[in-house]
Amino acid sequence: SVILAIESSCDETSVAICTNGKITANVIANQTIHQNYGGVIPELASRVHQQNIVPVIQQALIDAKVSKKDINAIAFTRGPGLLGSLLVGVSFAKSFALALDLPLIAVNHMHAHILAHFIDDPKPSFPFLCLTVSGGHTQIVLVKDFFDMEIVGESLDDAAGEAFDKTAKILNLPYPGGPLIDKHAALGNPLAYKFPEPQIKDLNYSFSGLKTAILYFIRAREKENPDFIKENLNDICASVQHSIVQILLNKVKKAAKQYHIKEIAIAGGVSANTGLRKALEEKSVELGWKVFIPAFEYCTDNAAMIAIAGHYKFINKEFVGQDIAPASRMEF
Ligand code: ATP
Ligand code: MG
Ligand code: FE
Repeated sequence: SVILAIESSCDETSVAICTNGKITANVIANQTIHQNYGGVIPELASRVHQQNIVPVIQQALIDAKVSKKDINAIAFTRGPGLLGSLLVGVSFAKSFALALDLPLIAVNHMHAHILAHFIDDPKPSFPFLCLTVSGGHTQIVLVKDFFDMEIVGESLDDAAGEAFDKTAKILNLPYPGGPLIDKHAALGNPLAYKFPEPQIKDLNYSFSGLKTAILYFIRAREKENPDFIKENLNDICASVQHSIVQILLNKVKKAAKQYHIKEIAIAGGVSANTGLRKALEEKSVELGWKVFIPAFEYCTDNAAMIAIAGHYKFINKEFVGQDIAPASRMEF
């Protein structure tokens, strides 16, 4: 089967093609316009999706060496995400399917982040635990089957990606700051400064307190030394990253114990973080875990993960009608 998939939930316009379970194209158009604003501006994101969607589709067809008449189904991100952004992808998918007389496959973006683990080998086996850490979500998911997943822990406030991005903003780094903190952290001492770990029961997370602690810490130090950030940027980044990674993995450790599961995956944009990837590898040795870390291109938003999810839904003939609408919030 040939599945064409469209992702437009936030600020990446992406189109991928899955040919018999293999990804043969994954084109991603990043939007740079938001850098000036310290966050994604929804109205601008929709307009750029509208400009990019047709060229990105065309490039994907060229990369996969398929023509429109080879396509068997159109998959698309239905949600969660920014409504205006989703509308561009969903409307395009519906029109394209109507014009080509093809079935439509609706995909949950958060399922897709996890299903990115089924693009390449080695693939995890069910049941496994997945820590999904992205710009909008922080979830520990018990993955029982391709579309049978249960959230067993999640953030009660900010997502891990937001913790990175908001800290970056405090440090005067441009948006999105996660990758920049990662870069500076590689050159700093992770134990230079200590930030408190939130005391949350069960498997849930909280990151808003960390952000406030960092803000107050920086303000206090700047009173004594106005150049504190500039002079200590690497150590600050390394320490913040270390704190976030510790908070994340401590709960994963708890979940693994509670559910007696040793296959542990990470997914979402923050799974690109080198500190998290390294700490997880170390845990795998320490605790006998089998860990699954996605290729960098499948961590942040991409349509390949939508295409692989579409592939499995195509096998089950799980199609939706032309009355489908995007959903900014979606049941998991
Ligand atoms: P969601 O998937 O929850 O709807 P999203 O799609 O906006 O949110 P992703 O594209 O999956 O999120 O991830 C983007 C987030 O990942 C941003 O917060 C970004 O800062 C963070 N991120 C990307 N690379 C890194 C990195 N190397 N280190 C830390 N954070 C990173
Ligand atoms: Mg993005
Ligand atoms: Fe995402």
